Amino acid sequence: MLNDNIQSLLILQERDTQVVRLNKDIAAIPAAIQKLNDEISAIKADVKATEDALKAKEVKRKELELEVESHEAQILKYKTQQIQIKKTEEFEALNKEIETAQAKISDLEDEELMLMDELDGDQAQLKEVNETAERRIGFVKQQIDEWQAKDERFKAMLQEAEVALEDQKSRMDVEHLRFFERLKTQIKRTPYIVELSGQQCTGCHMRVSNDILKKAKIGSVVACDNCGRMVYVGA
Ligand SMILES: [Zn+2]
Repeated sequence: MLNDNIQSLLILQERDTQVVRLNKDIAAIPAAIQKLNDEISAIKADVKATEDALKAKEVKRKELELEVESHEAQILKYKTQQIQIKKTEEFEALNKEIETAQAKISDLEDEELMLMDELDGDQAQLKEVNETAERRIGFVKQQIDEWQAKDERFKAMLQEAEVALEDQKSRMDVEHLRFFERLKTQIKRTPYIVELSGQQCTGCHMRVSNDILKKAKIGSVVACDNCGRMVYVGA
């Protein structure tokens, strides 16, 4: 049977550890949510980049159309000029201009056709990108909801844990409370109180001295001579 002092110190450690752990878990939640929100922003940026690339091609296509129209207008102008022309060589010169303009139109139209082909592919790709993004965003939002629910749950648990910790503190004498607080600052990380396994400290896995073992066996509050954790002999 463990003596009352050790037993109450162990309960204190357990409740204190619970409070520390919950505080740590709660503190990590905003960063986790931020990371997920960043992921949503990145997905949206990807969709926007795909949309922008497609829009740029549509603008290019419009430009090609305008260029074709301007060449067509030019041809019309040449043809009107030809009606008034008497000299054959001038007429022929205009014919040359018309041919050049027609060749240009043909090139532009080829380019436009290629672009339209690309646009078909791009539109299909955009649809796919949009669908994938929507699915992924839905999934990420669900994760955010889960984190928010966890946050609420942890905060409620923390309140209870704090009450339980205070309750245990109120049952203990000042001397042991101070001892525990000192132990916490010295060890920095839980557990602060560990059981001896034979003569071995289960915190640092080193052997404690015979003197410590002897004191621990009679239920004294003693520390491992290597790591400083409080050691006790289990029941
Ligand atoms: Zn130790």
